[in-house]
Amino acid sequence: MIIVFNPAASEEEVQHVVDRITELGMTPHLSKGVARTLLGAIGDEKILDSHPVDAMPGVDRVIPVMRPYKLASREFKPEATVIDLGDGVTIGGERFEIMAGPCAVEGRTQTLEIAEILSGLGVRILRGGAFKPRTSPYSFQGLGEEGLKILAEAREKTGMKVITELVDAEDASMVAEYADVLQIGARNMANFALLQRVGEMNKPVMLKRGMSSTVEELLLAAEYILKGGNQQVMLCERGIKTFETATRNTFDIAAIPLLKHESHLPVIADPSHATGVLHLIPPVSFASMAAGADGLMVEVHNHPDQALCDGPQAVPPGPFKELLLRIRELAPAMGRTA
Ligand code: PEP
Ligand code: MN
Repeated sequence: MIIVFNPAASEEEVQHVVDRITELGMTPHLSKGVARTLLGAIGDEKILDSHPVDAMPGVDRVIPVMRPYKLASREFKPEATVIDLGDGVTIGGERFEIMAGPCAVEGRTQTLEIAEILSGLGVRILRGGAFKPRTSPYSFQGLGEEGLKILAEAREKTGMKVITELVDAEDASMVAEYADVLQIGARNMANFALLQRVGEMNKPVMLKRGMSSTVEELLLAAEYILKGGNQQVMLCERGIKTFETATRNTFDIAAIPLLKHESHLPVIADPSHATGVLHLIPPVSFASMAAGADGLMVEVHNHPDQALCDGPQAVPPGPFKELLLRIRELAPAMGRTA
């Protein structure tokens, strides 16, 4: 249920309703918008049939949420969520934000070199996996905490923000010490223990769509994090498995405007894992921006031929610079900066 307050409702009136919802055994989630204050009441909605709150002072109306996800829905929060990473870096605001870097942190020299190049190009968020959930157990699994330390050093040297993947709930505190954004990968989108763990944290999370997951399942996975209290969630479309084999996955472009329509959460597009094909990364990036994405995550490597992970889809610095320039040219047409 969503309880909509009158624009003139006092703080006290709002608090009374919050207390009432809590007494009834439901969980209140308050959302103070510019025009209106909304209160999401999560729990057994039937209780409100016998204990109506419509008549309480300050309440305008009570509306049921039809969607299976509540806190993630636009019904619950009409204004777009903007996630503040500090130092003027935001996700979901006017600026189309680019996250770039290698698939994996392979070593200190490699990572610092890429970070310097990207930072010089104006990229403000560095990506790189220290824990790599690989399809094969024989593939490079990442450097673990040593990799996180290298990312932290790159942040120190360049001032970039860092996004890196968390694969195990047990490592959550450790990874959060080094990262500005925790990435939950496609393979873990439905790892509910992990989602609950990051839901308890005060750290931005990027949740990638599972390769065989529907948009609704993605939003329900986000709901797990939001329900825990962490409101700093962004979604990522990274392609899904279909019968098509010409690309690594099938990029679901329509998912971007659909997610933006259904949810207030920012949406990032990952053209690297979506296509796995180098020459498709620029056009899919441009299309993502046109479709309303709030940013991109792109794999960039200074020596793709030596990469330990996803080398063939890694964009070298030269072509990446071209891609960035084009994004910056196109952004104003979409009402954005980049
Ligand atoms: C990644 O971004 O490093 C990654 C492994 O992607 P995905 O989880 O989308 O496969
Ligand atoms: Mn990769």
